[in-house]
Amino acid sequence: MEKRLNGQKALVTGANSGIGAAIAQRLAAEGAEVVINFLFNDSATDELVKKIEAGGGKAMGIKADVSNEEQVDAMFKQMFKAYGTIDILVNNAGIEIHNLLENMTKAEWDKVIAVNLTGNFLCSRSAIRQFLQNENRPSKARGKIVNISSVHQVIMWAGFSSYCATKAGINLFAQSVAQEYAEKKIRINSVAPGAIKTPINQNVWSDPKGMADLMTKMPYGRMGEVEDVAAAVAFLSSDEADYITGTTLYVDGGMCLYPEFRFGG
Ligand code: NAD
Repeated sequence: MEKRLNGQKALVTGANSGIGAAIAQRLAAEGAEVVINFLFNDSATDELVKKIEAGGGKAMGIKADVSNEEQVDAMFKQMFKAYGTIDILVNNAGIEIHNLLENMTKAEWDKVIAVNLTGNFLCSRSAIRQFLQNENRPSKARGKIVNISSVHQVIMWAGFSSYCATKAGINLFAQSVAQEYAEKKIRINSVAPGAIKTPINQNVWSDPKGMADLMTKMPYGRMGEVEDVAAAVAFLSSDEADYITGTTLYVDGGMCLYPEFRFGG
């Protein structure tokens, strides 16, 4: 594999499962040293570190709740002690809680906002502060952030209004910050996956009826794989995307293409 990220230091949040784990592996395969942030399941992190090291890469796990300011600060400190700096932050940690608005508790609302949106803010702030100190890094940009958003930053989703609010929020937050820091040569972009096969949506892909319904929304005719998302993140993190900032790359098999119109209006 081409080593587009040789010598760079990356941190991926929520990275011991699903999309985050694939991103960590892809960035390491392209030459980055990777921090695998996680909150649950220490043994999954250990296994992922071993897998990356077995492939010749370098990685370390750091446990932290991305919605907790002290834990985020401590995580970045630990990373800087081990790796010296950060070149690439991938804000991947995210949760969804299903409920109709009439039944939604404030605790449910607060939890989704805290992890998906406040977590993005806290990690982005720590990364930006360090990017501003970066000089002579092995990348044209001084630092790069890639957010894992969702097609639900633009597609409304009944029962998941809190999730949609966070993903739409990430979009304009990221674009505003991209505008603030473009002149400092810091790039901020998002990847918006469609339906990717991971633990977050196991209830859908493990049920044949759920899969049949999903395929009606999927012009490309298959669910996405975690590697589809990881490839887009690696591209946006690399110098090949050096002139790209403040945008969203949809990795969704055409989910945003109003699929119900494909047989005529
Ligand atoms: P996942 O559940 O495997 O990954 C989410 C990760 O975030 C888990 O490892 C979880 O432990 C971690 N996490 C949760 N709360 C955390 C916290 N407070 N601090 C640190 N880590 C925390 O599911 P996934 O599908 O891999 O999701 C990854 C990202 O992709 C999420 O942001 C999700 O919204 C987004 N996404 C997924 C899909 C999909 O179809 N799978 C589609 C669009 C967007």
